[in-house]
Amino acid sequence: MPDRRALVVGLVLGLAAIAGPAGGVSAQENAQAKLPVVASFSILADFVRQVGGDRVGVTSLVGPDGDAHVYSPTPADAKALSAAKLVFINGLHLEGWLPRLVKSSGTKAALVTATKGIEPIEAAEQEHAGKGGHGHAHGHDDPHAWQSIANAKVYVANIRDALAAADPAGKAVYDANAAAYLARLDATEAEVKAAVARIPAQRRKAITTHDAFGYFVKAYGIEFLAPQGVSTEAEASARDVARIIRQIKAQKVPAVFLENITNPRLIEQIARESGARIGGELYSDALSAASGPAGTYIDMMKHNISEIEKALAAGPA
Ligand code: ZN
Repeated sequence: MPDRRALVVGLVLGLAAIAGPAGGVSAQENAQAKLPVVASFSILADFVRQVGGDRVGVTSLVGPDGDAHVYSPTPADAKALSAAKLVFINGLHLEGWLPRLVKSSGTKAALVTATKGIEPIEAAEQEHAGKGGHGHAHGHDDPHAWQSIANAKVYVANIRDALAAADPAGKAVYDANAAAYLARLDATEAEVKAAVARIPAQRRKAITTHDAFGYFVKAYGIEFLAPQGVSTEAEASARDVARIIRQIKAQKVPAVFLENITNPRLIEQIARESGARIGGELYSDALSAASGPAGTYIDMMKHNISEIEKALAAGPA
């Protein structure tokens, strides 16, 4: 329940929004009145929008269905950064391309690491014959912390505190928005856990292209294997693919999943050679377009668990 103060502030903001255009304030001036912030990728941008509401104007650098591991910033990104008061990043080595962009943009914005306080899990060691000799997936932190809803709540708390520090007049609004959103995250997590409980224990395993579900595995007990490591920078080697196909057969893995950010070819090949069926498309590192099935983080988590349950819950043992 929003408290009375938040309601009053909301009402005043609402009146201001109504009074704005009538009072001759252009839409552009209204947009400029919002706190300009940047988020490095779409999932993080959604968290910031949920907490910031109407007070904050959010620009996402990597957009829907984009790959935040590998990204080529544009001149518009540098412009958004230099205008921003805050820049929200995931950290845990997700955005290797960002430090250079921050530097070249000359931004004075405070950098906020949204995973601060989250206990990182270590990426499984991966054998890589990646192009360019990148094979650096050895024992570093897994960046996909958002795949646990408990972690998403830490992101939200960090965002709330950073917004309130940058815009103290909005604190009551940010507190109320965050509280309402945290309650929705709790409800979503309960749905995910209930869905997992409906999947027979011996069928709680699946394959994705890259190793994006480590936190999901740890939080919800579905085992995910991937031929590619925690980053999409290095390609899976023939040996990685052969190993996965052997594991699918030996462990009777019921399904393989496509990911919205990766090329479907590898998973299609693995399905063909292992006999596992393709269970659908999971949103691992990016939301869909607003009109798609995963336009927000909560819709993404609901879509993913629904696809996982459909593919794993029933079928030949
Ligand atoms: Zn990833």
